[in-house]
Amino acid sequence: MKFRPKGSVSDLAVFGGPPVFSEPLHVGRPNIGDRGVLLKRMNELLDRRWLTNNGPLVQEFEERIAELSGVKHCVATCNATAALEVAVRALDLRGEIIVPAFTFIATAHALRWQGLTPVFCDIDPTTHTIDPAEVLRNVTPRTTGILGVHLWGRPCDADVLTDIARARGLALLFDASHAFWCSYKGRMVGQFGDVEVFSFHATKCINSGEGGAIVTNDGELARRARLMINFGFDGFDRVTSIGINAKMSEMAAAMGLTSLDSLHDFMDAAHGNYKTYECELEDLPGIRMLAHDPSERSNYHYVVLEIDEAVAQIGRDEVQRVLWAENVLARRYFYPGCHRHEPYASDGRVREQRLPVTDTVAARVLCLPTGTAIGPDEVGAICRVIRFVADRAPEVQARLRGV
Ligand SMILES: *Cc1c(COP(=O)(O)O)cnc(C)c1O
Repeated sequence: MKFRPKGSVSDLAVFGGPPVFSEPLHVGRPNIGDRGVLLKRMNELLDRRWLTNNGPLVQEFEERIAELSGVKHCVATCNATAALEVAVRALDLRGEIIVPAFTFIATAHALRWQGLTPVFCDIDPTTHTIDPAEVLRNVTPRTTGILGVHLWGRPCDADVLTDIARARGLALLFDASHAFWCSYKGRMVGQFGDVEVFSFHATKCINSGEGGAIVTNDGELARRARLMINFGFDGFDRVTSIGINAKMSEMAAAMGLTSLDSLHDFMDAAHGNYKTYECELEDLPGIRMLAHDPSERSNYHYVVLEIDEAVAQIGRDEVQRVLWAENVLARRYFYPGCHRHEPYASDGRVREQRLPVTDTVAARVLCLPTGTAIGPDEVGAICRVIRFVADRAPEVQARLRGV
């Protein structure tokens, strides 16, 4: 691919210049493993005529996820949202669950769909994960659990949250949708709290098309979850409890296993892109890249910019406009915070609540393309546009505003 350099502000596509990329570059393009291996698995599952209901590929997928995360039990599901719903039911939670507002809407919806009240909590401005001090502030007599989110693959402060949960007698769950193959204090994500949930949606680092998993070291909890994902069936012709259908199919497991076969290639590609971004975007005033702790394992699946308009002299939304015109479809994850979406936004209690860190961070964050779909050439070209805009921020901003 050839990338045209920008000589002047007029060369930016937003002002009529040719875009840097002729095709759109998306955030969250799926990582795809070896097609031959996938098609072989597909052929085998068709030959077996075993397409779902705890087939051999689902069992193998569960074993590999449990082993890679160092956790005793894994129950594969059709997606992470259903996994979260089953997890809170298996824990028999009621009342209020404390959850960060800065997350994908599914985290809050899963609770509400199960009749629980998500109580939104502010985040730490540097890590973007739930702020334990804010958790404590939001505990009421109705609180029964804390649902942390390992956002961007950066683990929550699980030690502090575990202490809080123990002291207050609360359940502790983690939405680990972003954090497969990440570690906290040298231990793999999946092992913390009462239960954690992974997503293997197409956009995640390891994908099964649609898919998820409930992981826990609690055998009794895993047993209950396994009954729940299959209508409460405890053997042929025997239903012992209420359940839904949240099973993973063999086709999804074939895709998931094939993704896991390429785990190290996917991680190397993401890490390589991340390092290129980090190096090329160093020292830009007001534009900082979310860092990962190099002493921990990380999947480096999200490249997150934080743009502080007061310093950068250009806003996040303006940078996004410039990038979209260049065919770089950078995304404002997760904007606005869950507390500003319905049905939560019009709830009286939520409306009165102030979540200043969530609002500030949600207004600054821009996620950039990465994954195996692109490499150092594309990342370099994206960074040159960002650098160019940062260097001429006042001029670009003035022209965008028609001044
Ligand atoms: C993707 C995602 C989910 C939902 O996962 P699905 O598998 O699509 O249901 C939940 N929480 C977070 C933080 C996510 O990013």
